[in-house]
Amino acid sequence: MSFYFGEKNWPQIEEYVKKNAIVILPVGTTEEHGHHLPVETDAMIARYYGDRLGAAAEEAGIPVLVMQTINFGFSMGIVRKWPGCPNINTRTFMDYIYDINESLIKMGFKKIVMLDCHGNHDCLLRTVMREIADKYNIFTMTLSPFSLSAKLYAQIKKDPEGDIHGGEWETSCIMHIHPELVDPANFTNVDAIRCNSKLRGPVSTWGLQKTITGLFGDPTYSTAELGKAVMDEATVRGVEYLQAYYAHNEQSE
Ligand SMILES: [Zn+2]
Repeated sequence: MSFYFGEKNWPQIEEYVKKNAIVILPVGTTEEHGHHLPVETDAMIARYYGDRLGAAAEEAGIPVLVMQTINFGFSMGIVRKWPGCPNINTRTFMDYIYDINESLIKMGFKKIVMLDCHGNHDCLLRTVMREIADKYNIFTMTLSPFSLSAKLYAQIKKDPEGDIHGGEWETSCIMHIHPELVDPANFTNVDAIRCNSKLRGPVSTWGLQKTITGLFGDPTYSTAELGKAVMDEATVRGVEYLQAYYAHNEQSE
């Protein structure tokens, strides 16, 4: 059975509203990812993760609808130095995502999960979450496959530093999802992460070192096996969140 929102007719969508289904909105972006990955890398990961979660949720008996992936979003200027980013400014992006959430709520949906698959979107999606909660008393959720697989990734990655943009995690994911779109002949470690790991997180990562090829990480360690392992992990962890979210019905007045 299909779990795609866009393939339903309206009476079918109404049935999902009655079942208090979870609506999943995969959010990616389009931006340069070095010389070896396609510009739609984040959108491909978002789409794939939405498909995996949709299938796993259905198998777990959770009613879900997966929406079309958001392919365009906000990227910082450093990424836009290279071609490949049809950029959406932060406020336009937030308004667009807010409007989708608001429309779903007006249809009657109460549980919405945004899949956060692009680093620059974290705070923007969470701002929308707060605004929606404040206006509608509806509590949406964001899930990031990178965060949900971080523990496993830390155990199995070979790069001593790790990935922020186009390195081992993302390259491995695309090697698993779309191997034909990865160009290993162009793998390079010139932009391996050199900055002190204590600074990552509290400081906006893109400013911490100079990038030559548009990467912030080292793809040379990447394997399709690692990509599969982290996406499997993110799916298992993600369904645990969906299960708890679906089962939870209490909220403030
Ligand atoms: Zn990316």
